[in-house]
Amino acid sequence: MAVEKTKTKENGKGPELNPFTIAQAQLDEAAEQLQLDEATHQLLRLPLRELHVTLPVKMDDGTTKVFQGFRVQYNDARGPTKGGLRFHFDETIDTVRALAAWMTWKCAVVDIPLGGGKGGIVCDPREMSQGELERLSRAYIRQVGRIIGLEKDVPAPDVYTTPQIMAWMMDEYSFIKGNNEFGVITGKPLPLGGSAGRGDATARGGIYTLREWGKVTGFDLKGATGAIQGYGNAGTFAHQLAEDLLGMKIVAVSDSRGGIYNPDGLKYDEVFKHKQDTRRVADFPGSKPVTNEEILELDVDVIFPSALENVITEENAGNIKAKVSAELANGPTTPEADKILHEKGVYVIPDFLCNAGGVTVSYFEMVQNAYDYYWEEDMVHDRLDKKMTAAFHAVHETAEKYGVHKRLAAYMVAIDRVAEAVKLRGWV
Ligand code: GLU
Repeated sequence: MAVEKTKTKENGKGPELNPFTIAQAQLDEAAEQLQLDEATHQLLRLPLRELHVTLPVKMDDGTTKVFQGFRVQYNDARGPTKGGLRFHFDETIDTVRALAAWMTWKCAVVDIPLGGGKGGIVCDPREMSQGELERLSRAYIRQVGRIIGLEKDVPAPDVYTTPQIMAWMMDEYSFIKGNNEFGVITGKPLPLGGSAGRGDATARGGIYTLREWGKVTGFDLKGATGAIQGYGNAGTFAHQLAEDLLGMKIVAVSDSRGGIYNPDGLKYDEVFKHKQDTRRVADFPGSKPVTNEEILELDVDVIFPSALENVITEENAGNIKAKVSAELANGPTTPEADKILHEKGVYVIPDFLCNAGGVTVSYFEMVQNAYDYYWEEDMVHDRLDKKMTAAFHAVHETAEKYGVHKRLAAYMVAIDRVAEAVKLRGWV
C-alpha cells in the first residue's frame, strides 16, 4: 500500500508565499482601514470549521492508495458556505484555508447570500484514470458527506475538477441520503441539474468587469491586446469571450507545459482545437514559445493571470507592462506586488471580484435546484452581468473614495458586509 505524500506547510516557499498568511495579511490591512473592532477582526482571521479526511482508494493496478483531503468552512454568517474543490498534487491545508477565506469575501463582494468554503484533495489527477478519479471522488463524499448539503455547504468545480466529478459526487451523496440531492453541489452537467451558463461563467464575469474597467477609464478594448496565463476552464473561455464580447486580440496563452506568442493574434478556435488534439498549447503553428513567467511581462494591454497563486510577486511586478490585470485565478498577486502595481498605475481587477462569476452562477444553480425549474441562458447572462457590474463599481468607487488599491477596496466592501452579518447575528 502506498501513502500519498502530502505537504502541509508552505510548499517549501517560505511563509511570505503561504497563501493563508497572505490572506490574513490582506484582511488585517482592510480591518485597519475599516477600523473593525478587535473581536470581529479575530473571528474573520480564522476558519470556523475544518475537516481533514483520509481516503483509501483502489487503484487500477490492484493496489490501494491512501489520499488526504480537506474541507474548510470558513464563515457562514451570510449563508451556507460555498466554494470549489481542487485536486492538486501541491494542495495544502493552508492553501485551502486561504481559498475558503477568499470565497467568503467573493460571495460578499457580489452580494449573494452565501458564506465561503473550499475543499481539496492531494493527488495528481493527470496521472489517474477515470475509474480511479471516480473512486476518489466517491470516497471523498463518503467522508465529507456528513458536513455538506444545500443548506450547509455546497462544493463546486475548481482546479482539475470537472462537471463529471461533480456528477459522481452528487450521485454518491444522493445514495447516502436516499433521494436525489442535486443542490448539494454545483457545476453539474446540464442533465443532472446543472445551470445553463455555468461552464463559461468565471471567464464571462471577468470579461464583464474588464468591460466596465474600459468604461471607467475610457479605454477602447476593441483591438486591444491580451495575454492569458493558464488555459483551463477560466483561461480558455476568457480567450473566446475576449474575442467575441470585446473584440480583443489575444497574442499569447500558456498552460502548465509552456506558452505561445504571436503578435498578430492567436485565434481561439484554432488554439483550442490544437490543445484538444495535443493536450498542450505549445508548438501551435506560427507561434513563438514563451514561458509562463515571460507571458505576464509581455507588452500587452491586458494580462489575465488564470492559473495558480503567487505568480506576480515583488520579483516581477516591476516588469509588468499591461494597463490592467484581470485576475481570473485565485491569489495570483502577493501583497508586495499589489503595492508595486498600484504605484506603477497598473489597474488590478482583484481575483475575488474578477472571478466571482463562477460562484454567482453556482448560486443561480442552487436556486434552480431548490425550486426545480430551470432558466434560459440569456437570463443567466443578464443576471450575472448585473451582479458583476454592480460589484465592479462598488469596488471602483471605494478605491476612489479612500485612495486605496483595488484589492484593498474589494476587501473593504466585502468585509463590511460580512462584519455586518456577524454583528446582526449577535456573534460579537
Ligand atoms: N471554484 C470557483 C471559485 O473559486 C467556483 C466556486 C463555486 O462555484 O462555488 O470561485
